[in-house]
Amino acid sequence: MRNLFSRQSGATGTEARVSGEMEARERLALLDQFEQAALGWFWATDADNHLIYLSSSAASQLGRAQGELLGTSLSAMFLPDSSDEDGLEARPLAFQFSARNSISDMPVRLAVDGGEIWWSISARPQIDGEGNFLGYRGSAKDITAVRQSQRDASRLAQYDSLTGLANRHRMTKRLTATLTAYKSAKRSCALLMLDLDRFKAVNDTLGHPAGDELLKQVAQRLERIVGTRGEIGRLGGDEFQIMLPDIDDRGRLGEIANSVIQMVSQPYSLDGSRAIIGTSVGIAIAPYDGIETDELVSSADLALYAAKGGGRGQYRFFSSELKDGARLRRQIEEDLRDAIQTDQLELHFQPIVRASDHTVTCLEALVRWNHPERGFISPGEFVPVAEETNLINALGEWVMRRACMDAMQWPEPLRVAVNVSAIQFSGTDVPKVVRTALDRSGLDPARLELEITESVFLGDPEGTGRMLKDLKKMGVRLALDDFGTGYSSLGYLSSAPLDKIKIDRSFVNGLTEDENNNAAIITAIVSLAGALKMETVAEGVEALDELATITELGASHVQGYVFSKALDQSGLIERLETGGLKFEPHGPARHRADRRSTYRRVGVIHGDHRYDVVMKNLSKSGAGIEGMLDVPLDTPLVLDLGGGQLVVSRVVRSEGYAQGLEFEQNLISDGADGLCTRHRISPYALASAGMPLAALPPGSYLPAMTPDAPRSKPQFLQVDLSHANKAA
Ligand code: C2E
Ligand code: CA
Ligand code: CA
Repeated sequence: MRNLFSRQSGATGTEARVSGEMEARERLALLDQFEQAALGWFWATDADNHLIYLSSSAASQLGRAQGELLGTSLSAMFLPDSSDEDGLEARPLAFQFSARNSISDMPVRLAVDGGEIWWSISARPQIDGEGNFLGYRGSAKDITAVRQSQRDASRLAQYDSLTGLANRHRMTKRLTATLTAYKSAKRSCALLMLDLDRFKAVNDTLGHPAGDELLKQVAQRLERIVGTRGEIGRLGGDEFQIMLPDIDDRGRLGEIANSVIQMVSQPYSLDGSRAIIGTSVGIAIAPYDGIETDELVSSADLALYAAKGGGRGQYRFFSSELKDGARLRRQIEEDLRDAIQTDQLELHFQPIVRASDHTVTCLEALVRWNHPERGFISPGEFVPVAEETNLINALGEWVMRRACMDAMQWPEPLRVAVNVSAIQFSGTDVPKVVRTALDRSGLDPARLELEITESVFLGDPEGTGRMLKDLKKMGVRLALDDFGTGYSSLGYLSSAPLDKIKIDRSFVNGLTEDENNNAAIITAIVSLAGALKMETVAEGVEALDELATITELGASHVQGYVFSKALDQSGLIERLETGGLKFEPHGPARHRADRRSTYRRVGVIHGDHRYDVVMKNLSKSGAGIEGMLDVPLDTPLVLDLGGGQLVVSRVVRSEGYAQGLEFEQNLISDGADGLCTRHRISPYALASAGMPLAALPPGSYLPAMTPDAPRSKPQFLQVDLSHANKAA
């Protein structure tokens, strides 16, 4: 064999040669030792990059004899793409070899069966005096163990050690990689942001080990739902994130979010204790709600925030209006503090009527905020803000005191029902607040009813249970509000001392429509309540047919516009003096398919024209619009609801400037009270029509798609109704 490791020696003459040979022998012996100790190996190739030398100890690590390997081509020795899934990648080997580059400390994976072997190799190309490539000479050392521990470390750095889910770092990396790749492939990717409700209460009452166990179980439940459809991460604390590639159908995403909420809200068994938590979910979808990672994440965050604000245990899709919402919320927070002190709040009272004889038995106190600049702000808007900022305790105390005092002026048997937020049960001593209000007003405790929601049982059921028992001992009545919307755990129904169940409005709405099982659900609730000796109140009854059905199904009490809206104290007293305790039902004969009154300016596209119209009402299946004159029946129109939401519709009613539209595909719930389209126009489509690639802006921008297209004459006359509507 050729001596690979002798250097060209400049010495001449016999002496020099002899000492040169000795030196070479010496050096060989040293190298031999070095190789034997497996500190490193040597290798060399010929001009075709076939192996002509490899340390024998290296060969034996591979389970081969030295001679066997000689003649193997270098590229067959190593796996071509020596990178692995963890991203500790190497550069393409074949390229380096064929380019005859110098190689230094390059990690390569050996092409061997069974087990992974990694070497780090260094080599220099050998060139003769005429510039011909003679082959490589190089060294190698085994780095399998080093790589393993490197990989463990990188695993630690990428995964959450508690749950085994991806950590924030990995999620961001994965999301960025996915979004970047999807941008060129024009694919979509949904991001769900989760935050557990009342996790802190579990941690505080059952201890951190129980909290950790809970998080593990949450992770397992999420994995069961998501499976291989996407990737789940725990970002820290009780925040989770789910990435779902290639889904942009908001109908499907709503279903997934619902099953996430349902699964997470089932009770947990933690080392002998039981705990119930809930979760809120915010959803944003690339490219519609964000193109880049930051943008998508912040959209999902805003949606999550809105979901939490809308009462817990909900999901919410991102929409560009939420950005304004965030600003408004800060304003509300600032002003609310003053409002409580400066008497900007009022209580209104809505009758709860006995179903058998339409006699009022109780009035629900509903808080109203008359803001000096904004006018009336709905409690649906400011109560959630108060809950987030602890102002709910001051607000709750104010409402409790006012309600008891006002009730003192009503005829004797009438009770007052006061809403108590679940947050108040973890923040204050509710029995004490109630005691004080009763003492100050002199109200008989039997005339006070507290409306609590299912979420008070989350977190710390024992502490809440104690307070509820104290309240019962005082003689106060308890009602379970919004039943059926929350955490669907019936266990507490039998154990908590409740007097009344309020069946949520969502079951009453649409009760008289064909395709739903609301009637069956109400029947079940009514018989359950009957067995537990509780009253049932059907909330939100608006139409006469709903009242009839609800009465037939056996609800003992009814509340809703069909009898009365909430009245202020003086209005109520006057009504009771003139009309007595009986209420006459009045309202539409029949419930209309979830049709909401709106007053929204939207666009209608017909042919290549866009008309501005006012949308007067909207339901899942249709809308009423005003602003186009004499549109014939069956005309196909596209309704532009803004934010890329186009709804293919058909005119089914037409009278002068008013039309009724029927949608080709039903709208879906946005998680809250609103409706949205399943699909939106893709920013990719807009980009290919010449617009910059960006998340969907609010409002409408359809004409921009075809800026230079020739236009035909508009077929219909547009009527400006802004003045007429203001007067109305
Ligand atoms: P809630 O406890 O479910 O109250 C019933 C809501 O339904 C009230 O809205 C009421 O005006 C409305 N409503 C009653 N009948 C009908 C009907 O026939 N049709 C329709 N569509 N709606 C009807 P409001 O007053 O806007 O209150 C919204 C929510 O704000 C309440 O829901 C309650 O959760 C909360 N809230 C109101 N006052 C207070 C309060 O003093 N303290 C706390 N903690 N929360 C309050
Ligand atoms: Ca209520
Ligand atoms: Ca309610």
